[in-house]
Amino acid sequence: MKYTLVSFPAQNNMLFFIILFLSCVTIKINLCFSTIPSSLKTLPIHGHFNFHQVEHAAKDFGNRYSFLPLAVLHPKSVADIATTVKHIWQMGGGSDLRVAARGHGHSLQGQAQAHRGVVINMESLQLPKMQLHTGNFPYVDVSGGELWINILLQSLKHGLAPKSWTDYLHLTVGGTLSNAGISGQAFRHGPQISNVYELEVVTGKGEVVNCSEKQNSDLFYSVLGGLGQFGIITRARISLEPAPKMVKWIRVLYTDFTRFARDQEKLISGESAFDYIEGFVIINRTGLLNNWRSSFSPQDPVQASQFKSDGRTLFCLELAKYFNPEEMTLVNQEIKSSLSQLNHIPSTLFISEVAYIEFLDRVHISEIKLRSRGLWEVPHPWLNLLIPRSKIHSFAQQVFGNILTNTSSGPILIYPLNKSKWDNRTSVVTPEEDVFYLVAFLSSAVPCSTGSDGLEQVLIRNQRILDLCEIAGLGVKQYLPHYSTQGEWKSHFGSHWEAFIQRKSTYDPLAILAPGQRIFQKPVAYS
Ligand code: FAD
Repeated sequence: MKYTLVSFPAQNNMLFFIILFLSCVTIKINLCFSTIPSSLKTLPIHGHFNFHQVEHAAKDFGNRYSFLPLAVLHPKSVADIATTVKHIWQMGGGSDLRVAARGHGHSLQGQAQAHRGVVINMESLQLPKMQLHTGNFPYVDVSGGELWINILLQSLKHGLAPKSWTDYLHLTVGGTLSNAGISGQAFRHGPQISNVYELEVVTGKGEVVNCSEKQNSDLFYSVLGGLGQFGIITRARISLEPAPKMVKWIRVLYTDFTRFARDQEKLISGESAFDYIEGFVIINRTGLLNNWRSSFSPQDPVQASQFKSDGRTLFCLELAKYFNPEEMTLVNQEIKSSLSQLNHIPSTLFISEVAYIEFLDRVHISEIKLRSRGLWEVPHPWLNLLIPRSKIHSFAQQVFGNILTNTSSGPILIYPLNKSKWDNRTSVVTPEEDVFYLVAFLSSAVPCSTGSDGLEQVLIRNQRILDLCEIAGLGVKQYLPHYSTQGEWKSHFGSHWEAFIQRKSTYDPLAILAPGQRIFQKPVAYS
């Protein structure tokens, strides 16, 4: 057969080839996208893939980023996760398919999302069943997709509980261990990543590896605080302690930042009487103290009702003391003696007594209220910073009441942490001082507002704070970090960058995992 093509004039020939080439490319692309889901469909797994209702996996608490995946895996076993990751690993460096583990989706900037990739819904992983071990060193074995609230409920049945928490418990073990997990107990116990004995991890090559301080220790420390970059946590062994029944929950106020910070630092050093130490800033907020009175009793109601902030910025020290009812008298004495050594405004002592579980699950009560008013699923442009102790005064002076003139967009937490309680073998980066502060700007933006409570204005304020840290060289590190370029990530990791790259090339060389963090767009060898 003679091709008609040969009789075409030259430019028509050229046109034909271009059309042929383009149609081949289109077919190849279509083939590429259509064969990926079908190759996933044939994988021998116990759970299932969802290729259609995947919108949920393109959302998170931050409510600002949305990347639609091609598929969501609902694993029933660790093998399901390993099979899927290994399959993608075997596709090689040419494949663009990436995998994100999704815990409870409470990230702020798309960290648990995978654009045209596979999201693994870790909460579907119900195995191994939670197993509690009592004895001198009690611990619990849990799935990486388990919520901390469920661990609390289960361990309390045995009179036990984890030692280190986050302020909010409806987060997964894998999600918080990939960051650090910080709350008011961390000054004594360190973050949650300092309270893990062992992990089971699926690496970026699809291998299932057990690791601990003694076994495969480099993988163990890589994964802790590793932003999901080195492996998917499928099981964790978490250390427990005897749980108290009750909590004395205390708030006192300061108008002087220096006194506030000095007292906080005194409390976290040495043997503190308290089990939880946090603090927050109140700028130009009226009526807040009246709100507290419904749940906290002022020690001296007459004096407390006469206290007026007169527009001054207030610093609230928040403390908790755990106890059992039979220890009440002794505990009251200890609290009285410790408080007498602090320099707060004497009339502003507020105390509440609540059950331990009510104290730990306190943010959930606010969640229920906010949800009922449609205020939970709004944009959350949060900014979390770790600030060296030597720079906190300069930071406070320039930010509170200056860059920020009110706290109506959301709470600002501020409390110091002891670096000695953080293991420097983990992947998390913290400032180079023995004590550093967590300062968390937990803003909610009013949807569609162009005013000071709108997303754009909050982001501008956040950027001003970041610029200040940069220009003044405060040595600040972001917690729950998020950057758009590799250069920014490099400067975030600083001297730890080379080790981070080395670990990535060992455990996930094709950069299959955690694409939502946007650290590695390509296989590590080429980045
Ligand atoms: P996701 O958002 O689903 O995932 C977070 C990251 O971890 C992603 O990169 C994801 O790919 C990765 N990941 C998830 N599961 C796994 C796994 N099994 N293995 C490996 N990687 C995984 N943090 C604190 O430290 N202290 C607090 O007090 C605190 N309070 C908070 C209060 C609220 C209301 C919210 C929304 C968040 C709070 N956080 C706090 C932040 C929280 O710890 C992180 O956002 C955490 O990542 C959320 O957990 P998640 O289960 O929703 O994880």
